[in-house]
Amino acid sequence: MIVGRFAPSPSGRIHLGNILCCLLAWLSARQKGGKIVLRMEDLDTARCPRHYARQMIEDLQWLGLSWDQGPLTGGPDMSYFQSQRTDFYQAALEKLEALNLVYPCFCTRAELHAASAPHPEDGLTIYAGTCRNLTFDERAERAKRRSPALRLRVPAQTWSFIDGHMGPCRQRLDRDCGDFLLRRSDRIFAYQLAVVVDDAAMGITEVVRGADLLSSTPRQLFLYHLLELTPPKFYHLPLLLAPDGRRLSKRNADVGLDSLQTRITAEELLGKLAQLSGFHPSGSPVSAPELLSEFSWEKVPKNHIRLPEELFK
Ligand code: GLU
Repeated sequence: MIVGRFAPSPSGRIHLGNILCCLLAWLSARQKGGKIVLRMEDLDTARCPRHYARQMIEDLQWLGLSWDQGPLTGGPDMSYFQSQRTDFYQAALEKLEALNLVYPCFCTRAELHAASAPHPEDGLTIYAGTCRNLTFDERAERAKRRSPALRLRVPAQTWSFIDGHMGPCRQRLDRDCGDFLLRRSDRIFAYQLAVVVDDAAMGITEVVRGADLLSSTPRQLFLYHLLELTPPKFYHLPLLLAPDGRRLSKRNADVGLDSLQTRITAEELLGKLAQLSGFHPSGSPVSAPELLSEFSWEKVPKNHIRLPEELFK
């Protein structure tokens, strides 16, 4: 059984990037007779107040993108809100601790910034390993002043995988991503850990998401390996760009549904997004089920997609 998922972070109104991602996840799974799970990635509850999740649910309903398990529909999992699933992340963390791969990191934001090598591709920084080999006494001393984050020690190993859309990808864990966070100093679990634990627990067999997360995938595959879980198949889709080629930003409210919804129907919006994604040439208004016969991953471009002015703002 194919199981896809929507995994939005409800830290604002759903935006066109999320919508395209949900549409392709829905089409990719439903075309194969699969199910969809909706999971709210609201680990950082201060940034994800509940009204955004409620709004997202309404927006997905407006778009006609249905799900089988999740908020409203329920399902076998205890909760579909990550903020309520911390016991599972804690159990996974303990398993990694038992492998001696977790260490406390006392670096401040400023220290991290100063000591990290810039990431070649996306401007991310790679942890310099400052706290990797602290002695027991050094850790105890630092712990008196600061509550630590927890990091996973990564080996000098290359992880490769074949993305269902982007093709072969590889990363040297130590050089291209570095020891990464499992839990922040405020005890909030990191996305990388939570997403692996949840996708595995919820039986997800295919993950469809934006290409901005392509570089996270080898880290996640490493976690699947350490936790002895079966990874899903990954499909990364091109990002939507503003008409001038800029990356869209939620903060600038570039692409929220607020103003768009007042002048376009859900079918019109889906038709335009499907046209931009290469599988609905006419761009005419269409429902998600009507796109099932037209969709195929081969038609979707690999390069980022510029939004036309009419869909922007
Ligand atoms: N919650 C993430 C986001 O909204 C998506 C994570 C994922 O698909 O793995 O960007």
